[in-house]
This record gives sequence, structure tokens and C-alpha cells, in this order.
Amino acid sequence: MEKKKRYLVTSALPYANGPLHIGHLAGAYLTADTYVKYLRLKGEDVFYICGSDEHGAAITLRAKNEGISPQEIVDKYHNQIKTSFEQLGFDFDIYHRTSSDIHRDTAQDFFKTLDDKGIFNVERSEQYYDEEYKQFLADRYITGECPKCSHPSAYGDQCENCGSSLSPTELINPVSTLSGKSPILKETEHYYLPLDESQDWVSEWLERGLDDGVEQHDVSEWKKHVLGQCTSWLKEGLKPRAMTRDLDWGVPVPGKPGKVLYVWMDAPIGYVSAAKQWALDHNKSWELYWKETDTKLVHFIGKDNIVFHCIIFPILLKLHGGFVLPDNVPANEFMNLESKKISTSRNWAVWVHEYIESYPERLDDLRYVLTSIAPESKDAEFTWLDYQARVNNELVAILGNFVNRSVVLTHKYYEGEIPDVELKAEDNHFLNKAQEFVQQIEQDIEAYRFRSAQAAMMSIARIGNKYLADEEPWKQIKTDPERVKQILRTAIDLCACLSMVCHPFLPNTGVKLRRMLGAEAHSWPTTYSEYSTMRSGKLAQTEMLFSKVEDQLVEDETNRLQSSKEIIEEPKTNYVEFEDFGKMDFRVGEILSAEKHPDADKLLVLKVQNEDKVHTIVSGIAQQFSPEEVTGKKVCFLANLSPKKLRGILSEGMILMAENEAGELAFLEPSKAMPAGAKVS
Ligand SMILES: [Zn+2]
Repeated sequence: MEKKKRYLVTSALPYANGPLHIGHLAGAYLTADTYVKYLRLKGEDVFYICGSDEHGAAITLRAKNEGISPQEIVDKYHNQIKTSFEQLGFDFDIYHRTSSDIHRDTAQDFFKTLDDKGIFNVERSEQYYDEEYKQFLADRYITGECPKCSHPSAYGDQCENCGSSLSPTELINPVSTLSGKSPILKETEHYYLPLDESQDWVSEWLERGLDDGVEQHDVSEWKKHVLGQCTSWLKEGLKPRAMTRDLDWGVPVPGKPGKVLYVWMDAPIGYVSAAKQWALDHNKSWELYWKETDTKLVHFIGKDNIVFHCIIFPILLKLHGGFVLPDNVPANEFMNLESKKISTSRNWAVWVHEYIESYPERLDDLRYVLTSIAPESKDAEFTWLDYQARVNNELVAILGNFVNRSVVLTHKYYEGEIPDVELKAEDNHFLNKAQEFVQQIEQDIEAYRFRSAQAAMMSIARIGNKYLADEEPWKQIKTDPERVKQILRTAIDLCACLSMVCHPFLPNTGVKLRRMLGAEAHSWPTTYSEYSTMRSGKLAQTEMLFSKVEDQLVEDETNRLQSSKEIIEEPKTNYVEFEDFGKMDFRVGEILSAEKHPDADKLLVLKVQNEDKVHTIVSGIAQQFSPEEVTGKKVCFLANLSPKKLRGILSEGMILMAENEAGELAFLEPSKAMPAGAKVS
């Protein structure tokens, strides 16, 4: 096949209902950013898109739980995620959002085009409905037992335990997360996309790379686990899927109040609307990238999105017409953390914004470790001990050490002037060997093998260290000082090579290294003779590229993880056993002080005196009680509730409140004077 002329690269739109964690980074982002940085160094025409996915029931659910609006949720996380990416040095051309007007218009137009073509079937069906809350339940509002793995709290669309894609009616003993009661089935009307009618086309496209008989992509370049997941879906036979939902948060279905587009008829179109916004901002053509057939479209995603990007979205694009189809979807598998699945709801995660705040000098360390263990073809695991070992034994001991020795010796012997001498044949031969690793990096990145590519980059530093150890310039300076000039020029030229080829993996390190070398050029080396053009004639001040990770960091992070208590969602039941009741330590407490939570309008932070301990309790009563009016009250509280962080403050208990139908709250106060710490039973 002919080489395509330009690249359109997307990373899965992060869902704006929580912060980014390292599993996200390792899944759909670092790989894509590395790919894009590499292509740009090669001078390729690349357009790189990402943005926040801001619709869907999980956001309305979270908003409900936190007592704020969905818009407040997405504003908060959109900004936080965008900032994290910026701080990590990501090269997006645009980081957009699906709550924007241009996205709503684009998604509605897309829907209308399909509707005008008569592609949808409008069907009435029965769906779960919460009688108490009087609304249809989105998939995320229903939990129940997973029919595949028996996990007790699978969602209506997916089981987070086994990763199975589900429909709500498959759940065993479904429960509405709104009322906690069993939902009923009630009739509603939706627009169905007859995926089954596209089964033959999508099979041919996926399995042979053919679109109407014309070769589109090389199937042999696709990852086996990606094709495997698609094949098993196709084997089961595609079924019609509703493209609309009964929900009030999302892209409204034109002319159908109360209905919004299904997230998979919404989020991936975000790649298109982001391109439109970028074109407006920069007076460019978005169609060039989305519509010209010599564009290579690559979607980077995690494995939970495979069927949507490999089956549903391509079918939508094909039915709409006029768009290029993905050339490849190099999905990654999952990253686990300290032998457990990463979980947002259980707070079992390394949060990217927290990492950046704690270790602003270690951003490349994180990129490096996550690429080293990237879950390219099977699940992988991050541990802090392994992180420490990789930083210390690889970044510090190999790359940092080689660069440091080269520049320090050049400063020491020549005051930073890089010797302008002819190299010996063996030196050129050595540099040419480095260039073979550069070619290895190219082949690996172009085949989406980022672990191997990064390892080849480290091999360049590794042979550099061996070269210095063999040549021993620190000894030869006394016996053959002319030879030392050649050795150090060779070493500095290799540093210049590294300053370029490390950039896709370690952008901050690349910047430091180029600053030390006084480098102006910024391009991918095609022969070793170019290395010397990637530096100036004199070195600037030496900078440390990496620093050792001490045991204390590993200990702190491991402790932090272990102390983040799991929030276990227990199934709701009507009766409790007496022994369960007996486990609860209810007490009279005196509220010693109260103040507003710095980050949440609904929360008060209370200091509550128990018998011989003062509990910090975060309580959701701030909209009805001022700090002044609660201070000094004697109240009833649960003293041995598992401590849990609420908006950053550890809460050690719960104040008991009565609530009437109007939602008014009242404290339970003892009917006669009781000391703080008196038992309630
Ligand atoms: Zn399951």
C-alpha cells in the first residue's frame, strides 16, 4: 500500500467524572503522545486530538451524590485533566470538550444525516424505570449481580470486575441506584442502529482491511488482542443498538425532548467536533484530515473501548459517508496497581494530579516507568518498588550517568568546548552502531511497540557507558590527551543523538539535554553524521537529568495507598442482625467547633468530642446549618465508621440526622444533659 500523506491521531476522550490515574496514562495517552512526538520530529504532518467526554449517566450520578450540577462536575474535571496533560508535556493540537456548542451541533448533524437516510429503526421497548424517582434508568443507574462473574455490583452497561459489556436486563437482582429499590420495566421509544445490517461490511473491513473491495489498512499490523475481541463480538452476531437514551444530560435528540444521544453516538464524534474547533481557531481545514483518503487515522484507546472504536464508530462513519476509517486501533490492555485492579470508586489509584504536585521534578520518571511496563499485549502491573528500581537502575544509572560523565569530563578538560577533531574509524563505527538502535526505535514506534522502542533508546546510553568504560578517558588524559579529544567528541555526539531520540519518551529530559548541548536543531537523526549538527560547539552549564528515588518515597506512597480505605458498596437489605447493630459505636458527642469545607459548599468540617478523643467529621449539612449554630451542640454520632476522605479531609465518623419529606434536617439531641462520650444503644 502507498504511504499515507498525513496523520490524524486521537486519544480516547477521558471521562470528566474523576481525575486521571496512571492506568489511563498507560492505556491511551502516553503511547499516542510518544507516537505523535516521534512523527513530528520526522517532519510528518500530524494532527493530534483529545478532549473531555462530558456526557453520560455516570456524570449525573456523581453530580447527584455530591449535590452539585453535572456542569460543575465536568468543569472541575475537564480543567483538572487538561492541566495534568499540559504539565506532563502532551502535544495535543486541541484538548476539546463535548459539552461545547460546536460539539452538540456536530453530533446532532451527524444523527440527522443518518436519520434522513432512514438508517434508524424507531422501536418501542421496555426499560427499567424507578417508580419512586419517576424516571427511566440509564445503564449506570442500575446495579446488580454480573451474570458472567457473579460480581455483586456490576453496572447496567458493564461489569468493572470482569470487564464484560452488559445490558441492564442481563443483571441478576437489579437495583436502582436512585431509590435502592428494584426497578420496574416500562415502555419507551428509541432510535436503534441496525448494526446487524453492517455485519458483513465491518467483518470484511476488520478481517481483510477491505472497504467495498478497496484495501484500507494492513490487517497484519493490528494487535491480536484487538482483532480477537472484535472477532468474538462478530461471532456472536451484531445486534441493533439504541442510539438514544432517556436522560436530561447529553446532546439532545433533535425534536425529541427528554432524550439524548447515546454516548457512543456522541463521544467519538467529539474527535470530529474538536477538529472543527481547531480549524476555526487556526483558520485551517479539518476536512483535510478527516475526509482525504490519504490520511492515516489512528485511534489510541484502552481495551474497554475496543468494540466501540473498531465496530460501532467505523459503522457510524461508513453509514454517514465521507469520512476516513481508522487505519489502526492499537489498544492497550489494563494497568494494575500493587496486585489489584485500579479503581476510582475504591480510591485504589495513583492520581496523576497528585503525583505531579508531589514530584514536579519526576514527570519524565513516571512517563518512563509507565512506558517500560506498558500493557501493550497483556495486563501489566505498577508497583512503587518497581518504579524505584527502574528510575534508579535505568534512568539514573544508565542514561543520566552516561550524559553526566560525558559533559562533566568535557567541562573539566576543555572548559566545555567540544573538541573539533576528526574521529577515528572505530569511533564512527561506534556511532553507526548507535544509529542501528535509532532505526530500531523507528520500526518499533511505527509498529506501536513502545516498550521495545524505549528499550532501544536506553541501549544507546548503555553502549555509551560501555564505550567510556572501555576507552577510559580519565586514564588516557595522562598518556594520550589527543585521543581523549576524539573520545569525548564521540560521547557528546552520542548525547546529541540521545537529546533527539529521547524526546518522544522523555520530553522534559530532551529539553534539558538540548539546553546543555546548546542544540537548536529539532529533528530525527537519519544518519550518525547528523549527530554533530544537533549540538553547538560549546556546552552550557551541566544539569542533573535524574535523581535517585529514596526508600522513603516508596514507603510514603505505599502507606498512602494502603490507608485509602475501600468504599464497599453493600447490597441494600431491610433487616440487620443484632450482632451487626452491636458493631456500631453510637455516642453522644459535643461539637467543639465547625467550619465550612474549603472545597465543598455542602460540607461542614466538625470537631466532635467523644469520651477521650476528638473526631474530625465531615458532614453534609452546610446548606441548612451555619458553623455558629451547630457549635456547642450535643448530638448523636456513629464513632466507629471507617474513616474516609471527603473532598480531601479525613472524616472519622458520622453525625446522625433526622430528615423529613421536605428534606429538612434535625439533630438527635439527648433529652437531658449527657456527657460527651455517653453510649447510645
Ligand atoms: Zn463480571
